[in-house]
Amino acid sequence: MPETATAPEIVTVPCLRDNYAFLLHDPVTGATAVVDVPEAAPIEAALAERGWRLSDILITHHHADHIDGVEALRKATGAKVWGARADAHRLPALDHAVSEGDSVTVGGLSGDVIDVSGHTVGHIALHFPQAGAVFTADSLMALGCGRLFEGTPEQMWASLSKLAKLPPETLVCSGHEYTASNARFALTVDPDNSALISRAAAVDAARAANRPTVPSTLAEELETNPFLRAADPAIARHLGLDGRDPAAVFARIRSLKDAF
Ligand code: ZN
Ligand code: FE
Repeated sequence: MPETATAPEIVTVPCLRDNYAFLLHDPVTGATAVVDVPEAAPIEAALAERGWRLSDILITHHHADHIDGVEALRKATGAKVWGARADAHRLPALDHAVSEGDSVTVGGLSGDVIDVSGHTVGHIALHFPQAGAVFTADSLMALGCGRLFEGTPEQMWASLSKLAKLPPETLVCSGHEYTASNARFALTVDPDNSALISRAAAVDAARAANRPTVPSTLAEELETNPFLRAADPAIARHLGLDGRDPAAVFARIRSLKDAF
């Protein structure tokens, strides 16, 4: 199929203890972006292995485990740095400051900026329709979502609800390998969900073989991630919150997870 030769490529790069950065490569123009830079060395190695030149650095949020390698990588490659305008005061110097509704460009690829405040206020996700992928870092995660350090449950629920509307086949490229413990928690709030039961087993098998469980697809998150399923009557009933607003159910799930 001729289009496979020009399809964007995504590479998952494990960093630090349990972080993921991602390379997004446009074979047509040769441009390559990295999404988040927990540390520079594994990303430079992944680029060198493929002979790719870094053109852009895309930052999702200001936490150290997502930006600590930015300056080293900028210096080594001259790549342009993109991040949220709202967070410019606490991010490395931005060449391009963006807000929801803006686009980021990586060669011939265009990504939509989505505000996904909740974990932090100012956190963004980047959806690249041509790559069929959304980079969510610590907003929507595999079987989980980020802890609410700055935002309210209502904010995070609104953020997750935006992501839930993307095409179901979208790859969810999130920032951490937390899936096995997320699965153990998910089973406590959604114990009768057969898709979740089988996914939890698949996650354990993948981790036992030291394989990453990220990226996942939005379709599987919609089916099994309790934080995306706060509007599901079965979960509300299980938590004794029958008929309550999904944001309230989400808030309860998040606080149960914090104590898990
Ligand atoms: Zn974070
Ligand atoms: Fe993080």
